[in-house]
Amino acid sequence: MSFNFDNSYATLPEHWFEKSKPTPLKDTHLISFNAPLAQQLGLNPCDWTPSKLVSAFTSETLLEGLDPLAMKYTGHQFGVYNPDLGDGRGLLLGEHLSPDGLRWDLHLKGAGQTRYSRFADGRAVLRSSIREFLVSEAMHGLGIPTTRALAIFGSEQYTMRNGAEPCAMVLRVTPCHIRFGHFEYFYYSRQHDDLQLLADYVIERYYPEFQQATNPYLAMYQEVVKRSANLVALWQSYGFVHGVMNTDNMSIIGESFDYGPFTFMDRYEPDHIANKNDHQGRYAFSNQPSMMQWNLAALAQSLLPLIPKEELEKVLEGYAELYFNAFYAQMRARLALPGSGLEHRELIDQFLNLLAELGGDLNRAIRLLVEEQPLGDAIGIQEGAADAFSDWLVRYQEAKQREPSSLNSRVETAKSKNPVYTLRNYMCQEAIRDAQDGDYRKVNDLLALVREPTKFSKSMAEYAGTPPDWAAGIMLTCSS
Ligand code: AMP
Ligand code: MG
Repeated sequence: MSFNFDNSYATLPEHWFEKSKPTPLKDTHLISFNAPLAQQLGLNPCDWTPSKLVSAFTSETLLEGLDPLAMKYTGHQFGVYNPDLGDGRGLLLGEHLSPDGLRWDLHLKGAGQTRYSRFADGRAVLRSSIREFLVSEAMHGLGIPTTRALAIFGSEQYTMRNGAEPCAMVLRVTPCHIRFGHFEYFYYSRQHDDLQLLADYVIERYYPEFQQATNPYLAMYQEVVKRSANLVALWQSYGFVHGVMNTDNMSIIGESFDYGPFTFMDRYEPDHIANKNDHQGRYAFSNQPSMMQWNLAALAQSLLPLIPKEELEKVLEGYAELYFNAFYAQMRARLALPGSGLEHRELIDQFLNLLAELGGDLNRAIRLLVEEQPLGDAIGIQEGAADAFSDWLVRYQEAKQREPSSLNSRVETAKSKNPVYTLRNYMCQEAIRDAQDGDYRKVNDLLALVREPTKFSKSMAEYAGTPPDWAAGIMLTCSS
C-alpha cells in the first residue's frame, strides 16, 4: 500500500497560506526512518529506500499528490503578541489517509525559506532535528500525546547557529498542525469570517462529535482545555520541561508540539528552566500548568467572536480542577497507589518536596519504589537522603497496601507507566556528537530504546542509571 494523499488544508482560502516548495539541501541523505510509524500509516517500510525517501519528501520533484504550503499563524511569544509568525522553515507537504481512516499531516521542518521566514534562513540544524526526532518517539513511548516523525535527513550544507552547524530536515507526522496561533491570527487581524471557517474546519476534522452540540465552538474549546490540562499533567508527572510554551507552539488537539530546548530533568528541580534564553523563567517546570492556562486564556480571547465571554470564562475556571485530577491520577497510577480523585495528594506532594530538597531523580525514584529496589542516589545526592525519606517510605508502604486485592494489578499498571529509560539531554548530546561526525548509529539505537522505555536492555544498561557528571553542564537555547 502506498500513500493516499488528500490535501484538505490546500483547499481552504488562499490567504491562509503560501504555496511553496522545499529548497533542497546539498547532498541530502537519510539518517533514520521510523518503520513502525510507516506501518501505522499503512505503508510497507520495505518499499521506501533511503534515496526514494529523499527524493519523495525533500527534493524539488516531490512525490505526486503532495501540494506543499506554508501556513500563516501568529501567536504570543513570552507573553507578547507577534503578528509576523507562520511556517518560516517548515512546509505542510500534504495529508495522507491511512487505511484505518485517519488523516495525517506530513510536514517537512527545515525545508527552506518561505514568505514567513522574515530574515531567517528557513533551516533547522542537525542538533535540534535529532532532538525532535528522538523526543517525539520518547513521548509516544511514554503514552504522552505528541507529534511523531517518520524520517530525519542530514546534509552537507551548513548554517550559522552555535558556530557553523550542519542542516537537517525532519518529516513530522501528526493529525494536526493547527496551533492556538492560527486562531489568534484571524482574531487580531479582524478576519472573523475566517475565524469561524477555521473553527468549522477544526471541528469537522478533529471534533466531529461536537457538530450537533448546542454551541459546537464552546464544546470544542471545552475539549481543548481538557486535553491541554491532561497533557501538561503528564509532562509534570514525568519531569518534562517543554521550554517554549508560546501559543504558536500549542496544538489545538492537545499534543506536545514544536520541540525546542525541552528537558526531562535529571534531578527534580521545580524551578528548572530548560531554555537558557528564558531569563525570567516564564516557562520553568513548575510554571507549566499555569502557563498552559495563560495560553488557553489567549485562545479564549481569540474565540470571543464565536462564544459568549461568560461561557469561555466558566470553562477556563474549570482548568485547575481538570489539571489537578489528571496529575494526581497519573501520579497515583505510577506509584501503584489505590483510590481516586485527589486521594493521596498530600503523600504525593511530600514525595515531590523531598525529591526537590534532596536533588532526587523523579523517574528513577518512582520506578525503584514500585519495583521495591534500593533507592540509592535516585532519591537524592545529599548526605542523609535515605534518612530523610524513611518516614515517607513507611507512609507510602501503608497507603499502597490499603486495598490488597488490587495491589498486583496496580503494580502491573505502574510498571507499564514507569520508564527504565528517559531521553536525557546527555543521551541526545552523545547521539548529536556522533552524528556530526557522520555516525548515525546512536540516533537509531536511542530511537529503539525510547520507543519501548519500560523494557530493560542489557546492552543499554548504562542509560538506566545515574547520568554522567558532565550532563549537569548542558545548556540549551532556542537557537535551532
Ligand atoms: P520556533 O522557535 O521554531 O517555534 O519558531 C518561531 C517562529 O520563528 C516561527 O514563525 C518559525 O517559522 C520562525 N522560525 C524559527 N526559526 C526559523 C528559521 N531558521 N528560518 C525561518 N523562520 C524561522
Ligand atoms: Mg514553533
